[in-house]
Amino acid sequence: MRQEFCVSGQTLWQWRTAARQQAITANISAEEVDWLLQDLAGLDRLSLRLETFKDRAEILLCLPLSELTTLWEHRIQDRVPVQYLTGVAPWREFLLNVSPAVLIPRPETECLIDLAIAAATPPPDSPLPTSLLTHGHWADLGTGSGAIAIGLATAFPAAMVHAVDYSAAALAIAQSNAQKLNLADRIRFYEGSWLQPLAHLKGKLSGMVANPPYIPSQMVPDLQPEVARHEPHLALDGGMDGFDCLRHLVAAAPDYLQPGGVWLVETMTGQAIAVAALLQQQGSYHQIQIYPDLAGIDRFVLAYRH
Ligand code: GLN
Repeated sequence: MRQEFCVSGQTLWQWRTAARQQAITANISAEEVDWLLQDLAGLDRLSLRLETFKDRAEILLCLPLSELTTLWEHRIQDRVPVQYLTGVAPWREFLLNVSPAVLIPRPETECLIDLAIAAATPPPDSPLPTSLLTHGHWADLGTGSGAIAIGLATAFPAAMVHAVDYSAAALAIAQSNAQKLNLADRIRFYEGSWLQPLAHLKGKLSGMVANPPYIPSQMVPDLQPEVARHEPHLALDGGMDGFDCLRHLVAAAPDYLQPGGVWLVETMTGQAIAVAALLQQQGSYHQIQIYPDLAGIDRFVLAYRH
């Protein structure tokens, strides 16, 4: 059992009030104080919002209040993302383990799973059996925390998901997430570069999904300090023009996708149209489509293998 430390509701309320003030001064969302308290003090959102926790005689923390203060100082002074402080990030219906070895899964990336589901489900008038894509092998390339692989394994209960990452430290996190969510027997993990560890699946993939690094190298240092200083550049830096990995995935995937297989990636603002053109030029793809994220920005590109 994890250790517990007791504080009064009044003390924690004072701590929260001070932390929220520091957040506002540092131009950080005061909401984040509550994320920390939800994960480390077991408080629910409503009791935080209504401040009813203040009247409790005791609240159990999983670390001493002084350590909570130290964590919050890292957030304010060092700009460490709050998800690295708590070690978890919510994404779709999951609470995923994260560490600085993996990119924190973003809300917009959640859409990739809905697009994969829609792409794998034939329209009602289609002669194709549903099982063609939903029962096959899916790949998540550059899996990081394992978010996309976990989303796919949950969306397609009859499929096998193959998750690849170049970073052994990232794979360890992804594997811990698959285990925690009881998906360890549904996802296979491979250390390597993009499709290279999946030679045994050439011509067999039902779908290939990726959120590859796509930020142009010279833009990486100028990203917000939380990202530039703490998130893995391996997961962000897409080379000189940002397209290194996207170009590779366009060129390499046709050997691995089965006819009718789905190619689906996330891109940066402004890149989707160029990625669609690359797919067109490559010659192995059809029904190339661009989809917006929840903010209305064209962010996802989907195509089918001829
Ligand atoms: N979406 C991430 C960001 O905003 C970038 C992820 C990526 O390069 N694939 O920093």
